[in-house]
Amino acid sequence: MRYELPVLPYSYNALEPFIDAQTMEIHHSKHHAAYINKLNEALAKAPQLEDKTLEELLNNLDLAPEEIRSAIRNHGGGHYNHSFFWEMLTPAGKNGTPISAILDLKEEFNKKAVNLFGSGWAWIIKNENGSLEVATTPNQDTPLSFGKKIILGLDVWEHAYYLKYQNRRAEYIDAWWNVINWQKVSKML
Ligand code: MN
Repeated sequence: MRYELPVLPYSYNALEPFIDAQTMEIHHSKHHAAYINKLNEALAKAPQLEDKTLEELLNNLDLAPEEIRSAIRNHGGGHYNHSFFWEMLTPAGKNGTPISAILDLKEEFNKKAVNLFGSGWAWIIKNENGSLEVATTPNQDTPLSFGKKIILGLDVWEHAYYLKYQNRRAEYIDAWWNVINWQKVSKML
């Protein structure tokens, strides 16, 4: 199989109490794994794409034949987004110093993340002129597909928080700010 589930750089309980171990385990080993399986299934139908990276495919969805284009978009986007998401988390207390340019956007970010209707992601992206911006995408769409550089992203699908926070998405968003890997954010900037 072309893509495999990445190993997390921390244990499932490492983000407690902000993100609980059961949610992390199901999210990683079931949800993320399912995106990868379906992405691999789709790519198996298009051997001509063998030399294309996932980034290239997401950045130019028209490269894929129409019959698998939505699978690349949804499951490829799911694999890409989740792989990025895990990397940008780390246990609280070992996560470095929050970056003021990001904190300046916290209020706007939280508001957009709370109000995003249905399933999707909230992002901080970097524009070509270096400015930072808050964005959201529905489903598993990724800013990469719009040519944007991702600095930070938050999964606001219910599967990311429902076991612990139920309908209290705002509490999950607040909690997430405690487990951001600021060293990695700093490198992305
Ligand atoms: Mn997810």
